[in-house]
Amino acid sequence: MSLERFPRFTLLDGPTPLQRLPALSTKLKINLFVKRDDMSGLGGAGNKLRKLEFLLGDALRSGADILIAIGGVQSNFARLLAAAACKAGVQCELVLSHMVPRDDADYLQNGNTILNQLFGALTHDLPASVDAVEYANARAAELEREGRRVYICPLGGSSPVGCLGYVAGAIEIEQQRAEQGLRFDHVLLPNGSGGTQAGLLAGAMLQGQPVDTIASYNVLAPVEKTIEQTGAKLRGTLDLLGIPAESAEASVKVRDGYRGDGYGVPTDGMRHALSLMATTEGLLLDPVYGGKAFAGLLDDVHSGWIAPGSNVLFVMTGGLP
Ligand SMILES: *Cc1c(COP(=O)(O)O)cnc(C)c1O
Repeated sequence: MSLERFPRFTLLDGPTPLQRLPALSTKLKINLFVKRDDMSGLGGAGNKLRKLEFLLGDALRSGADILIAIGGVQSNFARLLAAAACKAGVQCELVLSHMVPRDDADYLQNGNTILNQLFGALTHDLPASVDAVEYANARAAELEREGRRVYICPLGGSSPVGCLGYVAGAIEIEQQRAEQGLRFDHVLLPNGSGGTQAGLLAGAMLQGQPVDTIASYNVLAPVEKTIEQTGAKLRGTLDLLGIPAESAEASVKVRDGYRGDGYGVPTDGMRHALSLMATTEGLLLDPVYGGKAFAGLLDDVHSGWIAPGSNVLFVMTGGLP
């Protein structure tokens, strides 16, 4: 496939499972499947590893010997970059700012900060008032003056190069769908920076498949901004793949209403979704992304937007640490 011309550093050893959830299917009167990207590769797993395969490939080809990630204190991307950099034998630095309006110990000493230390990543902890991108650029300039070659990763790993990870993800899902003889009426996922949805959409377009089954639940930005950002990422990814991008924005479907008071702020629907998934299937959703998206899915089942008997694939994106 045309992804072969992009440099890639392997982080996932083969496909993640695509499983049917029998008990929850019965309960919801649908056929519910999950794509277990919470079981990918290394470093505590998650959707960012797919993006990192192509970002690391690109960074290593450019001769970089140090990578910089920008994100929130709780960033899964930063944690997985730290793990992947260890595996690739390059250094990394994490520029982390206070993106969630919380300053309690549970937030500041979350699992990711502990794992970042375990991976030996140098962390720059910024107050909310400092512009993280400017800070990262200044730090990169400083490192370059010392003779280092720096690669700055985009927020959430969602540049067009990073989005290629979910183009590959879409190809993997299509293979599993065909092998298992399935047909999905809905493919649903959380949307933060939009890279995962953009990659899945570009992957479907690359394979000549319809894209109207794919929809996300926004958990970070308001819906208009989410659609705009995801559309821009989709356009950039299609450009990279050499696919015409006329109807890019129009194919981005986002289901609003589950973000609550803001990114990372818990909602009752999220708590219910986590508990239902745990008590019915023994599976763990994270509270920032998967929990809010799954709360949306449950509402969409109850409202009938997802019709009884539908085949639904929910992408589990990780984030538990
Ligand atoms: C980053 C992240 C997402 C959202 O992915 P985007 O590509 O930024 O939309 C979803 N789930 C988890 C666990 C994440 O870390």
